[in-house]
Amino acid sequence: MADRFFPNEMPNFVPETSIAVAPQEPTAKDSELLSLPYATLADTLKRSAFVLKQTVVNETWGLSGKRVQDYTLYTGALGTAYLLFKAYQVSKNDSDLKLCSDIVKACDSAARDSGRVTFICGRAGVCALAAVLANNAGDERLLDRYLTQFKEIKLPSDLPDELLYGRVGFLWACSFLNKHIGKETISTTRMRAVVDETIKSGRRLANKGRCPLMYEWHGKKYWGAAHGLAGIMHVLMDMDLKPDEVEDVKGTLRYMIKNCFPSGNYPSSEGSESDRLVHWCHGAPGVTLTLVKAAEVFGDKEFLQAAVDAGEVVWKRGLLKRIGICHGISGNTYVFLALYRLTGNVEFLYRAKAFACFLHEKAQKLIAEGKMHGGDRPYSLFEAQSHAGKFGILLLTLSQGLGFLNLQAIIVHPNG
Ligand SMILES: [Zn+2]
Repeated sequence: MADRFFPNEMPNFVPETSIAVAPQEPTAKDSELLSLPYATLADTLKRSAFVLKQTVVNETWGLSGKRVQDYTLYTGALGTAYLLFKAYQVSKNDSDLKLCSDIVKACDSAARDSGRVTFICGRAGVCALAAVLANNAGDERLLDRYLTQFKEIKLPSDLPDELLYGRVGFLWACSFLNKHIGKETISTTRMRAVVDETIKSGRRLANKGRCPLMYEWHGKKYWGAAHGLAGIMHVLMDMDLKPDEVEDVKGTLRYMIKNCFPSGNYPSSEGSESDRLVHWCHGAPGVTLTLVKAAEVFGDKEFLQAAVDAGEVVWKRGLLKRIGICHGISGNTYVFLALYRLTGNVEFLYRAKAFACFLHEKAQKLIAEGKMHGGDRPYSLFEAQSHAGKFGILLLTLSQGLGFLNLQAIIVHPNG
């Protein structure tokens, strides 16, 4: 187990100092950055993020001759476009937005015959981001075109329910549009039809079992954010649910909390006894993000406590030997940002800074020494390993004082 992650030897908390006293204060064992005043650290991270952004653009767009093979947000060109969109929100630099639009247009051509329908791995992500960009630019004709395309997306009846390829992955794109363009951009009626299917499917498989909702993907009852309960519950909590549906979502989360491992980590699937993975896709990190969402939406203390407990596992075992959002340190860092946003407790902000500074200071060297995974898609958003696109977004998020932290935007973050 220990070989999946670095032991976390960073101090539990290092207070931020004022500029005047910083040089006299002892520095943290692992990072001199951690005691810096927040604004100074934010500036450092922002500079680094913009350098990374440029590298990602060169590698995934410039060097490919501006041709798109993989259009998805997960591993493909839309991930680069999304990074530029996030960069624009910080820089307000029109050239970021222009480049983002060019890449999205190329993704649109590449995705035209794709049967995939979700935000992260399908056409809905392309149409949704394209529509938001057109709206930003005040181009009503283009906005109309992409919204029409989005509304024409048909969901096959045998679609799974999970986030990467299934129904809630489509609903997530609807939420993204309604959040960025305005309520009812995608109508409640349209979303309700998909919610109905998702709830029906969950109740059918639960079959009056101990957990009110249950889902399957490729024959397995997953619990994590990417393919299972955590991702599905997260998106459902953004929908207008009926009272009995709310009870089923709460009951499902309670079932998960009650059946976590003795270590506090969460199984990757129903009945699994292997307490190994502490990833966004499988294990405590994705579940924590969902529990934070539950605490926000329902206000129940039990969800807040469970989120804090699961976050502890991420602090101890989440310093993975990979970088990206799906199964790397970047994705795990969002757990602390989410807990900080929920509680206002600076100890969580510290933990986010600690994970980000670990990556910022050590990742390149550890990869060069073969102690951290180099990966096959080093510039992608979700599986990035070295100069990760996701890491770039994470740095931007931290550098912006968490202004646009928003699990919904990427989920994945669900929580981007
Ligand atoms: Zn993963």
